Amino acid sequence: MKYLDEFSDPVLAKRLFDDIRAVTTRPWSLMEVCGGQTHSIIRHGIDQLLPEEIQLIHGPGCPVCVTPLEIIDKALEIASRPDVIFCSFGDMLRVPGSGRDLFKVKSEGADVRVVYSPLDALKIAQENPDRQVVFFGIGFETTAPPNAMTVYQAKKLGIPNFSLLVSHVRVPPAIDAIMNSPDCRVQAFLAAGHVCTVMGTAEYPELAERHRVPIIVTGFEPLDILEGIRRAVRQLEAGQHTVENAYPRAVQPEGSPAARAMLSDVFEVTDRAWRGIGTIPLSGWRLSPKYREFDAEHRFSVTGMETEESTVCRSGEVLQGLIKPHECAAFGKECTPRNPLGATMVSSEGACAAYYLYRRLETPDKEASSVG
Ligand code: SF4
Repeated sequence: MKYLDEFSDPVLAKRLFDDIRAVTTRPWSLMEVCGGQTHSIIRHGIDQLLPEEIQLIHGPGCPVCVTPLEIIDKALEIASRPDVIFCSFGDMLRVPGSGRDLFKVKSEGADVRVVYSPLDALKIAQENPDRQVVFFGIGFETTAPPNAMTVYQAKKLGIPNFSLLVSHVRVPPAIDAIMNSPDCRVQAFLAAGHVCTVMGTAEYPELAERHRVPIIVTGFEPLDILEGIRRAVRQLEAGQHTVENAYPRAVQPEGSPAARAMLSDVFEVTDRAWRGIGTIPLSGWRLSPKYREFDAEHRFSVTGMETEESTVCRSGEVLQGLIKPHECAAFGKECTPRNPLGATMVSSEGACAAYYLYRRLETPDKEASSVG
């Protein structure tokens, strides 16, 4: 196939649905790791068209959603300083901190700017040598390499007024934590294909073996997701638990060596808190000692933050696949994309936003149809 819309082909989709139906004999619970996959599933009604036995559990792979409240509050604190230009991707501006968000801080006079690349922030730093310029570096293995490259450039070019507020997280430790949870219902994973485009697949065989869980590296278009589900169910029915690459047009086993080299030069692995989930050992990155001078937390000494999470938001349970978004009492009432109580309603990859956007106000009805 050559063009993207061919990956939504209804004839091929029906064939894959038929294959999945033919191979399914028992109930199975599969987790799609990435929020982009969740949006594709809900948007195309894939979960509604699967056999009753197949349950899709939405995973924690939304970078905005898992950025811890403490980091959001630190961003708000740093952005409020008069000598700071605070740069961020747009979707972070509406993520609620303890009582306010970056939009509110901006409306109060702070210099908060939306940029489309961390290199834009670096350029702003070059143009404003008398101001401190901070870029909010969040996300998974996908956004970490360009942020690493920007810090590398800042050091190389000698731009001392640039710094990075880092909240990068890694997928494999999250899969491990999900499988170690006593509440875990996941029997197979659709791993995030774009993460593997960077990191390759080497981290997964040990996880699959230790937890006896199939891991299928999966893309984002409807046919990608159906193929991932088909392979996962086929393995489960056969009692297998191996790693398969169902996204070979983008993923090589070794990933991107250049991106991985940049990551290991600029960052070092550390424990990270995930919003709504808690601290997961070795699940994140921070700047390595060689680049610590560009660490905004270090530069601005923001400590002693008192965080205050919404008492009604159940996004932690949503992110762990323990409830579906519409099972939260606030869904679509007190909590909407215009007035989000939790990050999962803000982000374009958040499960709550996906359910709201595609009007999943009730329990999914498997009779309904939308693919094709
Ligand atoms: S619907 Fe809103 S309040 Fe409920 S879990 Fe989602 S983000 Fe939180």
